[in-house]
Amino acid sequence: MAHYRAELTGVFGDPVDDNPTCVLEEAAYAALGLNYRYLTIKVLPEDLETAMASVRAMHFRGINLTMPHKIKVIPMLDELSEAAQIIGAVNTVVNDNGRLTGENTDGKGFTTALKNGGVKISGTRIMVLGAGGAARAICVECALNGASHITIVNRTQGSGSELADLINEKTECKAEYVPWTENLAVPEGTDILINATPIGFTPAHMQRPDIDYDTIREGMVAADVVFDPVDTLFLEECGKHGARCFNGIGMLVQQGALNFTMWTGKEAPVDVMYDALAKEIQG
Ligand code: NDP
Repeated sequence: MAHYRAELTGVFGDPVDDNPTCVLEEAAYAALGLNYRYLTIKVLPEDLETAMASVRAMHFRGINLTMPHKIKVIPMLDELSEAAQIIGAVNTVVNDNGRLTGENTDGKGFTTALKNGGVKISGTRIMVLGAGGAARAICVECALNGASHITIVNRTQGSGSELADLINEKTECKAEYVPWTENLAVPEGTDILINATPIGFTPAHMQRPDIDYDTIREGMVAADVVFDPVDTLFLEECGKHGARCFNGIGMLVQQGALNFTMWTGKEAPVDVMYDALAKEIQG
Protein backbone atom coordinates (compact mmCIF):
# COMPACT_ATOMS: atom_id res chain seq x y z
CA MET A 1 0.00 0.00 0.00
CA ALA A 2 1.24 3.51 -0.79
CA HIS A 3 2.55 5.53 2.13
CA TYR A 4 2.63 9.21 1.28
CA ARG A 5 2.70 10.69 4.78
CA ALA A 6 6.15 11.92 5.71
CA GLU A 7 7.58 11.80 9.23
CA LEU A 8 8.05 15.42 10.30
CA THR A 9 11.01 16.84 12.18
CA GLY A 10 12.44 20.35 12.37
CA VAL A 11 13.52 23.24 14.50
CA PHE A 12 11.57 25.99 16.32
CA GLY A 13 13.40 29.26 16.91
CA ASP A 14 13.48 33.02 16.44
CA PRO A 15 15.65 34.11 14.73
CA VAL A 16 16.01 30.84 12.88
CA ASP A 17 16.32 31.68 9.16
CA ASP A 18 20.07 30.96 9.03
CA ASN A 19 20.03 27.78 11.17
CA PRO A 20 21.95 25.20 9.08
CA THR A 21 20.68 21.98 10.72
CA CYS A 22 18.22 21.30 7.87
CA VAL A 23 21.19 20.85 5.52
CA LEU A 24 22.66 17.93 7.44
CA GLU A 25 19.41 16.24 8.48
CA GLU A 26 17.91 16.41 4.96
CA ALA A 27 21.18 15.05 3.52
CA ALA A 28 21.03 12.14 5.98
CA TYR A 29 17.35 11.37 5.24
CA ALA A 30 18.08 11.40 1.48
CA ALA A 31 21.16 9.18 1.88
CA LEU A 32 19.12 6.50 3.67
CA GLY A 33 16.05 6.97 1.45
CA LEU A 34 13.84 7.83 4.44
CA ASN A 35 10.51 9.60 3.97
CA TYR A 36 11.37 12.20 6.63
CA ARG A 37 11.40 16.01 6.35
CA TYR A 38 13.29 18.61 8.42
CA LEU A 39 11.62 22.03 8.49
CA THR A 40 13.11 25.30 9.74
CA ILE A 41 10.18 27.00 11.51
CA LYS A 42 9.94 30.50 12.96
CA VAL A 43 8.16 30.39 16.33
CA LEU A 44 7.83 33.54 18.44
CA PRO A 45 8.28 33.17 22.24
CA GLU A 46 4.56 33.81 22.93
CA ASP A 47 3.58 31.04 20.48
CA LEU A 48 5.80 28.26 21.83
CA GLU A 49 2.98 26.55 23.72
CA THR A 50 0.79 26.46 20.59
CA ALA A 51 3.73 25.23 18.52
CA MET A 52 4.46 22.40 21.00
CA ALA A 53 0.77 21.43 20.98
CA SER A 54 1.05 21.20 17.19
CA VAL A 55 3.99 18.79 17.54
CA ARG A 56 1.50 16.40 19.14
CA ALA A 57 -1.44 17.37 16.91
CA MET A 58 0.49 16.91 13.66
CA HIS A 59 2.39 13.84 14.88
CA PHE A 60 5.83 15.34 14.44
CA ARG A 61 8.40 12.63 15.20
CA GLY A 62 10.65 15.18 16.85
CA ILE A 63 11.71 18.77 17.06
CA ASN A 64 14.84 20.79 17.84
CA LEU A 65 14.60 23.92 19.95
CA THR A 66 16.93 26.85 19.53
CA MET A 67 17.01 30.43 20.80
CA PRO A 68 14.92 31.54 22.73
CA HIS A 69 13.01 28.33 23.50
CA LYS A 70 15.51 25.89 25.08
CA ILE A 71 14.53 26.65 28.70
CA LYS A 72 10.88 27.74 28.29
CA VAL A 73 9.96 24.43 26.61
CA ILE A 74 10.74 22.34 29.73
CA PRO A 75 7.32 22.58 31.47
CA MET A 76 5.68 21.52 28.18
CA LEU A 77 7.45 18.12 28.17
CA ASP A 78 6.64 14.79 29.85
CA GLU A 79 10.18 13.64 30.61
CA LEU A 80 13.78 14.89 30.62
CA SER A 81 17.13 13.09 30.19
CA GLU A 82 19.70 13.38 33.01
CA ALA A 83 21.86 15.83 31.04
CA ALA A 84 18.87 18.00 30.08
CA GLN A 85 17.80 18.08 33.75
CA ILE A 86 21.21 19.22 34.98
CA ILE A 87 21.81 21.66 32.11
CA GLY A 88 18.28 23.03 32.51
CA ALA A 89 17.86 23.33 28.74
CA VAL A 90 16.50 21.12 25.96
CA ASN A 91 17.49 21.23 22.30
CA THR A 92 15.91 17.98 21.11
CA VAL A 93 12.46 16.50 21.68
CA VAL A 94 11.31 13.02 20.71
CA ASN A 95 7.57 12.39 20.30
CA ASP A 96 6.57 8.81 21.16
CA ASN A 97 2.85 8.71 20.42
CA GLY A 98 2.22 12.02 22.16
CA ARG A 99 4.71 11.53 24.99
CA LEU A 100 7.42 14.19 24.66
CA THR A 101 10.93 13.52 25.98
CA GLY A 102 13.52 16.31 26.14
CA GLU A 103 17.25 15.78 25.64
CA ASN A 104 20.22 18.09 25.30
CA THR A 105 22.55 16.91 22.53
CA ASP A 106 24.76 20.05 22.42
CA GLY A 107 27.22 18.65 24.95
CA LYS A 108 26.89 15.05 23.73
CA GLY A 109 27.72 16.20 20.18
CA PHE A 110 30.86 17.81 21.56
CA THR A 111 32.02 14.79 23.60
CA THR A 112 31.22 12.38 20.74
CA ALA A 113 33.30 14.45 18.29
CA LEU A 114 36.27 14.33 20.68
CA LYS A 115 35.86 10.63 21.48
CA ASN A 116 35.68 9.77 17.76
CA GLY A 117 38.95 11.66 17.36
CA GLY A 118 40.57 9.42 19.97
CA VAL A 119 40.35 11.84 22.92
CA LYS A 120 39.60 10.33 26.33
CA ILE A 121 37.62 12.78 28.49
CA SER A 122 37.73 10.81 31.72
CA GLY A 123 40.34 12.16 34.17
CA THR A 124 41.14 15.28 32.11
CA ARG A 125 41.63 18.89 33.21
CA ILE A 126 39.65 21.27 31.02
CA MET A 127 39.57 25.03 30.49
CA VAL A 128 36.40 26.48 28.97
CA LEU A 129 36.13 30.03 27.62
CA GLY A 130 32.54 31.27 28.06
CA ALA A 131 29.66 30.34 30.34
CA GLY A 132 26.59 30.60 28.08
CA GLY A 133 24.30 27.83 26.80
CA ALA A 134 26.97 26.02 24.77
CA ALA A 135 29.53 26.16 27.61
CA ARG A 136 26.94 24.90 30.09
CA ALA A 137 26.04 21.89 27.93
CA ILE A 138 29.71 21.08 27.22
CA CYS A 139 30.77 21.39 30.88
CA VAL A 140 27.92 19.18 32.16
CA GLU A 141 28.54 16.49 29.53
CA CYS A 142 32.33 16.50 30.10
CA ALA A 143 31.70 16.25 33.86
CA LEU A 144 29.28 13.32 33.33
CA ASN A 145 32.02 11.72 31.18
CA GLY A 146 34.45 11.80 34.11
CA ALA A 147 36.47 15.01 33.56
CA SER A 148 38.30 15.66 36.83
CA HIS A 149 38.56 19.48 36.81
CA ILE A 150 37.05 22.34 34.79
CA THR A 151 38.28 25.95 34.85
CA ILE A 152 35.50 28.24 33.63
CA VAL A 153 36.65 31.58 32.22
CA ASN A 154 34.04 34.26 31.59
CA ARG A 155 34.06 38.06 31.34
CA THR A 156 30.83 38.26 33.39
CA GLN A 157 31.32 36.85 36.86
CA GLY A 158 27.69 35.96 37.67
CA SER A 159 27.15 33.34 34.94
CA GLY A 160 30.73 32.05 35.30
CA SER A 161 30.41 31.36 39.04
CA GLU A 162 26.91 29.99 38.59
CA LEU A 163 28.16 27.41 36.08
CA ALA A 164 31.06 26.41 38.37
CA ASP A 165 28.59 25.99 41.27
CA LEU A 166 26.30 23.85 39.09
CA ILE A 167 29.13 21.47 38.16
CA ASN A 168 30.33 21.24 41.78
CA GLU A 169 26.82 20.59 43.12
CA LYS A 170 25.43 18.23 40.48
CA THR A 171 28.46 16.19 39.35
CA GLU A 172 31.59 14.52 40.74
CA CYS A 173 33.83 16.93 38.79
CA LYS A 174 35.53 19.91 40.49
CA ALA A 175 35.04 23.30 38.84
CA GLU A 176 36.27 26.84 39.48
CA TYR A 177 35.47 30.23 37.99
CA VAL A 178 38.34 32.45 36.83
CA PRO A 179 37.79 36.04 35.63
CA TRP A 180 38.84 36.72 32.04
CA THR A 181 41.90 38.96 32.41
CA GLU A 182 44.02 40.29 29.52
CA ASN A 183 46.28 37.75 27.76
CA LEU A 184 45.04 34.99 30.09
CA ALA A 185 47.43 32.06 30.63
CA VAL A 186 46.20 28.50 30.11
CA PRO A 187 46.99 26.72 33.41
CA GLU A 188 49.74 24.11 33.39
CA GLY A 189 48.35 20.58 33.23
CA THR A 190 45.37 21.58 31.05
CA ASP A 191 44.47 18.72 28.69
CA ILE A 192 41.58 20.31 26.77
CA LEU A 193 40.98 23.99 25.92
CA ILE A 194 37.57 24.95 24.56
CA ASN A 195 36.32 28.18 23.01
CA ALA A 196 32.60 28.20 23.88
CA THR A 197 32.08 31.88 22.99
CA PRO A 198 30.96 33.24 19.59
CA ILE A 199 34.33 35.06 19.19
CA GLY A 200 35.59 34.41 15.65
CA PHE A 201 32.21 33.75 14.04
CA THR A 202 31.76 35.20 10.52
CA PRO A 203 31.75 38.17 9.84
CA ALA A 204 34.09 38.69 12.86
CA HIS A 205 36.34 35.86 11.63
CA MET A 206 39.49 37.96 12.17
CA GLN A 207 38.93 37.88 15.95
CA ARG A 208 40.16 35.27 18.40
CA PRO A 209 39.79 34.83 22.17
CA ASP A 210 42.29 36.91 24.17
CA ILE A 211 44.52 34.27 25.78
CA ASP A 212 48.29 33.78 25.93
CA TYR A 213 48.74 31.33 23.06
CA ASP A 214 52.36 30.73 24.15
CA THR A 215 50.98 28.82 27.17
CA ILE A 216 49.45 26.17 24.88
CA ARG A 217 51.53 23.02 25.02
CA GLU A 218 52.28 20.30 22.48
CA GLY A 219 49.63 17.57 22.49
CA MET A 220 46.94 19.66 24.21
CA VAL A 221 43.46 19.36 22.64
CA ALA A 222 41.85 22.61 21.38
CA ALA A 223 38.19 22.69 20.38
CA ASP A 224 36.00 25.48 19.00
CA VAL A 225 32.20 25.75 19.02
CA VAL A 226 32.39 28.29 16.18
CA PHE A 227 31.67 26.48 12.90
CA ASP A 228 31.76 29.35 10.38
CA PRO A 229 34.53 29.66 9.33
CA VAL A 230 35.45 26.00 9.72
CA ASP A 231 39.10 26.89 10.44
CA THR A 232 38.99 29.68 13.02
CA LEU A 233 41.90 31.90 14.01
CA PHE A 234 41.66 30.37 17.50
CA LEU A 235 42.27 26.86 16.15
CA GLU A 236 44.93 28.09 13.73
CA GLU A 237 46.89 29.68 16.59
CA CYS A 238 46.41 26.66 18.90
CA GLY A 239 47.54 24.37 16.06
CA LYS A 240 50.72 26.42 15.56
CA HIS A 241 51.56 25.73 19.21
CA GLY A 242 51.16 21.97 18.79
CA ALA A 243 47.54 21.46 19.86
CA ARG A 244 45.28 18.81 18.26
CA CYS A 245 42.35 20.78 16.89
CA PHE A 246 38.62 20.01 16.71
CA ASN A 247 36.35 22.41 14.78
CA GLY A 248 32.74 23.36 15.50
CA ILE A 249 31.38 21.43 12.53
CA GLY A 250 32.30 18.13 14.18
CA MET A 251 30.21 19.04 17.22
CA LEU A 252 27.29 20.26 15.12
CA VAL A 253 27.31 17.15 12.93
CA GLN A 254 27.55 14.74 15.88
CA GLN A 255 24.69 16.54 17.55
CA GLY A 256 22.64 16.22 14.35
CA ALA A 257 23.63 12.55 14.14
CA LEU A 258 22.35 11.92 17.68
CA ASN A 259 19.06 13.64 16.80
CA PHE A 260 18.81 11.58 13.63
CA THR A 261 19.23 8.31 15.53
CA MET A 262 16.77 9.35 18.26
CA TRP A 263 14.12 10.12 15.61
CA THR A 264 14.72 7.33 13.07
CA GLY A 265 16.24 4.55 15.20
CA LYS A 266 18.98 4.22 12.56
CA GLU A 267 22.71 4.88 12.59
CA ALA A 268 23.43 8.28 11.09
CA PRO A 269 25.52 8.64 7.89
CA VAL A 270 27.94 10.99 9.65
CA ASP A 271 30.29 11.47 6.67
CA VAL A 272 27.40 12.47 4.40
CA MET A 273 26.21 14.97 7.02
CA TYR A 274 29.70 16.43 7.53
CA ASP A 275 30.30 16.86 3.79
CA ALA A 276 26.88 18.47 3.23
CA LEU A 277 27.46 21.02 5.99
CA ALA A 278 31.10 21.78 5.15
CA LYS A 279 30.09 22.34 1.49
CA GLU A 280 27.26 24.64 2.54
CA ILE A 281 29.50 26.74 4.82
CA GLN A 282 32.55 26.87 2.58
CA GLY A 283 30.37 27.64 -0.46
P1 NDP B 1 25.30 32.52 24.78
O1 NDP B 1 24.86 33.86 24.33
O2 NDP B 1 24.45 31.72 25.69
O3 NDP B 1 26.73 32.67 25.53
C1 NDP B 1 27.80 33.37 24.95
C2 NDP B 1 29.03 33.27 25.86
O4 NDP B 1 30.14 33.87 25.19
C3 NDP B 1 28.87 34.03 27.18
O5 NDP B 1 29.62 33.36 28.18
C4 NDP B 1 29.50 35.38 26.86
O6 NDP B 1 30.05 36.02 27.99
C5 NDP B 1 30.63 34.97 25.95
N1 NDP B 1 31.00 36.04 25.03
C6 NDP B 1 30.29 36.51 23.98
N2 NDP B 1 30.97 37.48 23.34
C7 NDP B 1 32.14 37.64 24.02
C8 NDP B 1 33.25 38.51 23.87
N3 NDP B 1 33.33 39.39 22.88
N4 NDP B 1 34.28 38.41 24.76
C9 NDP B 1 34.24 37.50 25.77
N5 NDP B 1 33.19 36.66 25.98
C10 NDP B 1 32.16 36.72 25.11
O7 NDP B 1 25.63 31.72 23.46
P2 NDP B 1 25.74 30.14 23.28
O8 NDP B 1 26.54 29.60 24.40
O9 NDP B 1 24.40 29.58 23.02
O10 NDP B 1 26.57 30.02 21.93
C11 NDP B 1 27.94 30.35 21.88
C12 NDP B 1 28.46 30.00 20.49
O11 NDP B 1 28.43 28.60 20.30
C13 NDP B 1 27.62 30.60 19.36
O12 NDP B 1 28.50 31.14 18.40
C14 NDP B 1 26.89 29.41 18.79
O13 NDP B 1 26.64 29.54 17.41
C15 NDP B 1 27.89 28.29 19.04
N6 NDP B 1 27.30 26.97 19.11
C16 NDP B 1 27.85 25.98 18.34
C17 NDP B 1 27.36 24.71 18.40
C18 NDP B 1 27.98 23.66 17.56
O14 NDP B 1 27.39 22.57 17.46
N7 NDP B 1 29.13 23.87 16.97
C19 NDP B 1 26.22 24.35 19.26
C20 NDP B 1 25.74 25.45 20.08
C21 NDP B 1 26.26 26.72 19.98
P3 NDP B 1 29.16 36.93 28.98
O15 NDP B 1 28.48 35.99 29.94
O16 NDP B 1 30.18 37.79 29.63
O17 NDP B 1 28.20 37.69 28.10
